[in-house]
Amino acid sequence: MSNDWRLRCLTCNEDIGTTWNHGDEWVKRLARRHKEISSAFALLAGDLRDDCDLEIEIKAHYEYLNLEWLLSHRDHDIRAADAYGKVFTLDGEFDPAASTLQAVEWERKDREARAGLTQVHGGQSMRRSSGPLAGRNRRP
Ligand SMILES: [Zn+2]
Repeated sequence: MSNDWRLRCLTCNEDIGTTWNHGDEWVKRLARRHKEISSAFALLAGDLRDDCDLEIEIKAHYEYLNLEWLLSHRDHDIRAADAYGKVFTLDGEFDPAASTLQAVEWERKDREARAGLTQVHGGQSMRRSSGPLAGRNRRP
C-alpha cells in the first residue's frame, strides 16, 4: 500500500513539504538523527559557507532533503509522520498523542484486525502473513 512519509515538526505543527513514498524506515531514521544532521549542516552553512561557493544537496529516494527546513527546526520536536496522520516516536513506535484522532482510530481497527487474523489450530496460534498491515512496524 502506498504511503507518503514526511518529517513533521510538532513544535511548529509544520511538515517538511517533501514526501517519500514507502519511506517509513528512511524517514524514521532521519527523524531520530535530525539534530546531528542539522548541526552538521549548521556548521557548513555558517562560517565555512562564506569562504567558498558552497552548495549542499542531499537527495534520497528521488527527493531532495530540505536542509534549510531541518536547520530552521533544529532544536524542535521532529518526528516521522505518514500520509494518514500517524506520527511516530523517535524509537519508531506509533504515538497516539501526536497523531490525528482518525489515525488513532485506524490504528485501533488495524490492531483489532490483526488480532482477528490470529487463529488457533490444534492448540497452536497461527498468524496469517497476508493483509495490508501484516508484518509492518514490528520490531524483529
Ligand atoms: Zn519547528
